[in-house]
Amino acid sequence: MTNYDIVIIGGGPAGLAAAVSAYDAGTRSILILERDTQLGGILNQCIHNGFGLHTFHEELTGPEYADRFVRQVLDREIVYKLSTMVMDISGQKIVTAMNREDGLFEIQAKSIILAMGCRERSRGALNIPGYRPAGIYSAGTAQRLVNMEGFMPGRRVVILGSGDIGLIMARRMTLEGAKVLVVAELMPYSGGLKRNIVQCLNDFDIPLKLSHTVVDIEGKERVSGITLAEVDSGCKPIPGTEEHYDCDTLLLSCGLIPENELSREMGVSLNPVTNGPVVNESLETNIPGVFAAGNVLHVHDLVDFVSEEAAAAGRNASAYVSEGGFEAARHEVPIVCEGGPRYTVPGTIDPAHMPDRLTVRFRVGSVIKNHFVSVYFGDKQVLHRKRPVMAPGEMEELYLSKKMFDERPGLDKITIRIEEA
Ligand SMILES: Cc1cc2nc3c(=O)[nH]c(=O)nc-3n(C[C@H](O)[C@H](O)[C@H](O)COP(=O)(O)OP(=O)(O)OC[C@H]3O[C@@H](n4cnc5c(N)ncnc54)[C@H](O)[C@@H]3O)c2cc1C
Repeated sequence: MTNYDIVIIGGGPAGLAAAVSAYDAGTRSILILERDTQLGGILNQCIHNGFGLHTFHEELTGPEYADRFVRQVLDREIVYKLSTMVMDISGQKIVTAMNREDGLFEIQAKSIILAMGCRERSRGALNIPGYRPAGIYSAGTAQRLVNMEGFMPGRRVVILGSGDIGLIMARRMTLEGAKVLVVAELMPYSGGLKRNIVQCLNDFDIPLKLSHTVVDIEGKERVSGITLAEVDSGCKPIPGTEEHYDCDTLLLSCGLIPENELSREMGVSLNPVTNGPVVNESLETNIPGVFAAGNVLHVHDLVDFVSEEAAAAGRNASAYVSEGGFEAARHEVPIVCEGGPRYTVPGTIDPAHMPDRLTVRFRVGSVIKNHFVSVYFGDKQVLHRKRPVMAPGEMEELYLSKKMFDERPGLDKITIRIEEA
């Protein structure tokens, strides 16, 4: 069995940023394991621009953004293995992986960073009556076919779900010569970024039908038509609102699910809201020395925040290794959500371990306009910030300083509350 100080599972933007920052923090024994044939993760198929505005103050494509981090990994001569599937991670941090060259092999790690990303939810397909003809794709699969493999999935397209990948693919398919007839969204609000609705739908006159779903798929061998209907507040189709579309393709963009099968098997506690690991201020899971970052932790809207979060995980993993583990006695202050936020990352904060400035990220469960985001330490309000609009498709963030905690020793609860203006 070989030994590494830090083993990183996944060579997407999260894994790459974690590796670079762990190296810069002083750790030299780092291994990245990636099942794909190249580093960069899902960004390799995202050939549109708009990446990196926060990190590099430039508009990059997905592959360009990934390349910036791949170069940093190469410059530092960080070891990585491609086409290598991690099969299992034990609670003792033994990683079992497989590839053609080495066969099945084991690595003992001192620390592990989970950076496996997420996969697309296929739920949208399940409750739709009719046959299962060819022509139904997840939006991500269609993105890969068009952008990496050079195939067109279809010519007349209906998209179900208004997540960012669906919106991006509405524009992409149009640019490639297809006719995108409509994007239907079950919820009364879009699941994607506002900028993507403007740039990918409005700019191309593609209608977005909120509170609509697919109620029928026609075609036996190949999709020949789709019927949409409006839904009521309980998401039930309203009879009489059906509309037919002649089309040959249905793309599904119904959300992303963090890839946590490995995490669950090794005993990492998962948050039922995010489907990602429960983590403390160090992005450390309930298993000491096992950290998580990126989409495996919670689904991000911007890759810049993935890189920022993963860099913190890398620094913390490096500190864990150099200190020979974090001290066992911790004073974990839980973060409680009230009035709108569905979850926070991190879920707890130990003031003794936090950096000078800690980012707390969360998402709300519905569109909330003209409200305040307030933070309470016990009963005392320590932050109060007006937000004109908050939407489930856009991640919110706030910053807590170490000084705020120093002023309140013995704190036992932090509350993040959405309050009326
Ligand atoms: C289909 C799809 C399309 C997207 N399109 C866009 C877009 O157009 N614009 C945008 O801003 N964001 C997009 N995103 C969001 C984007 O995924 C994130 O911003 C970012 O890529 C997340 O980085 P990550 O490293 O956490 O995950 P990923 O980029 O998904 O990287 C995770 C890596 O882990 C590897 N891995 C997983 N399990 C294992 C294992 N068991 N063994 C070895 N390796 C493993 C995967 O192969 C992958 O390379 C998309 C996401 C998906 C799923």
